[in-house]
Amino acid sequence: MRIVVASGNNHKITEIKHMLSELDFDVKSVYEIEKNYDEPDENGQTFEDNAFIKANAIRKIFNDSYILSDDSGLMVDVLNGEPGVHSARYAGDEHDDAKNNALLLKKLENVKKEDRTAHFVSVLCLITPEGEKHFFRGECEGEIIFERRGENGFGYDPYFLPHGKQKTFAEMSESEKNEISHRRRALDKLKNYFSENYKK
Ligand code: IMP
Repeated sequence: MRIVVASGNNHKITEIKHMLSELDFDVKSVYEIEKNYDEPDENGQTFEDNAFIKANAIRKIFNDSYILSDDSGLMVDVLNGEPGVHSARYAGDEHDDAKNNALLLKKLENVKKEDRTAHFVSVLCLITPEGEKHFFRGECEGEIIFERRGENGFGYDPYFLPHGKQKTFAEMSESEKNEISHRRRALDKLKNYFSENYKK
């Protein structure tokens, strides 16, 4: 059985493929099948809304496969949950990781260490070939540090220090990050779903 993953983010796809590797599924990014796939606008108010928008757009093309999407982001407590669902485009139209991080740091300029708590969220939306929809949510708690550390990963990883760890996500190897990440926690719930419900 095939799982089509509704994402063009290579980092996410690698993490998802890695974490689902022990399942007996053929996991493919939508772009491996449809090079010219156009992603829908993510205009929902919640991670669940956006994850569903992404999965449902693909479901219209591949209705014989499982469809999986991930909508994720960083929520900083002192910023009332910002950047949240806007994490990818935080710095506006001309966004990239460097600009998003620069804006985040600027907003936290005068915030002291103990108030820089944050968490990553990953919401997976799975649509089954029968059209059932399921959500799996994972979170990872930590804090935003003052200066970037590490070169691995993507997005806000160089500034995110998970609670109880000495390394930022960007200082961790992919497998170290995958042990504790928000996406890992959501994917563990998805794997439980498959082990209880999927019969070959
Ligand atoms: P999405 O593709 O709309 O879900 O956007 C997710 C955005 O949230 C990414 O572009 C990153 O900025 C941020 N993000 C989500 N997960 C991670 C992560 O594991 N590390 C760092 N940043 C992340």
